[in-house]
Amino acid sequence: MFIKINHKTTEEPKMDNKIDGKAVAAKTRAQVTQAVASLSVTPCLAVVLVGDDPASHVYVRNKIKFTEDSGMRSLEHRLPENAAQDDVVEIVRALNADPDVDGILVQLPLPSHIDSDAVIAEIDPAKDVDGLTDVSAGRLVLGQSGLRPCTPTGSVILAKAALGDLTGKYCVILGRSILVGKPAALMFLEQNCTVTIAHSRTENLPLICRSADILVAAVGRPQMVQPDWIKAGACVIDVGINRVPSVKRPGKFRLVGDVDYKPARAVAGAITPVPGGVGPMTIACLLRNTVLAACDRRGLERPAILEI
Ligand code: NDP
Repeated sequence: MFIKINHKTTEEPKMDNKIDGKAVAAKTRAQVTQAVASLSVTPCLAVVLVGDDPASHVYVRNKIKFTEDSGMRSLEHRLPENAAQDDVVEIVRALNADPDVDGILVQLPLPSHIDSDAVIAEIDPAKDVDGLTDVSAGRLVLGQSGLRPCTPTGSVILAKAALGDLTGKYCVILGRSILVGKPAALMFLEQNCTVTIAHSRTENLPLICRSADILVAAVGRPQMVQPDWIKAGACVIDVGINRVPSVKRPGKFRLVGDVDYKPARAVAGAITPVPGGVGPMTIACLLRNTVLAACDRRGLERPAILEI
């Protein structure tokens, strides 16, 4: 149990309703480590990094570290900022053809002269650990087994850490992007939730959000979701990561979510912070997908411990 839910409404922030994304991610990584140890093969994740974006370099470093910490192999391919699209495609095709590679992750964003969609379309769906190819999206829509996108998977795991079985819960997803909103909606549907997708053209947004048992905010608008948008006792999953100027440290930035966390915490039954909520789950779910891909590709049963 990572939180204790308090359904009472009070004006004071409760201290027991934060969903600790770091702790849940650590548990997921521990499950991955256990699953890897039980396999007859060592799964391998290949990461392709193009350009000099400092944030991407940090993300890739972390992904490689966590991959190796969990007992898997990692490969890294770095290309310069001015790499041609064909160079990136050539690497992806070589990784597709390499029987020892189970997962391929192309770190986004790619430099602007490269067509990201075209590069992603090259990834063998069997190795699509980011769950971004047309085939992965199609399998999700069709309810077929496949590799699901990492951030929505992390959101589901966090909601389950707070609520347990999600069957019958009314879930509102705020945002309809291909990366987060749409797959999240389908994944909460897979959990037998009743799902509404809201977006920038939705009317009566606060009213719709206020009816949710589970509110997933993925809009990219700093602190847009206010406490009066949240039903007392609801579970709030804040996917947003927004950089805003720091008041305390002029010239610096701080990260905030799409939810106005402090006052929202006083109303919610359970809520993820930013940072330390959905963010850490994304990498943990990438590792999980690498193990699932390794099992599926090699005809091995998926480890039960990785079931959601
Ligand atoms: P997009 O910009 O692709 O999509 C945003 C969605 O929010 C769109 O569907 C848009 O609606 C909707 N939206 C925007 N403004 C409003 C509004 N005022 N009212 C209602 N809906 C609105 O963003 P992403 O889905 O890629 O990302 C969302 C957030 O999640 C970002 O902060 C991003 O940084 C973060 N993120 C976090 C990750 C993590 O690991 N924690 C991973 C990926 C993303 P419409 O379609 O109508 O334009």
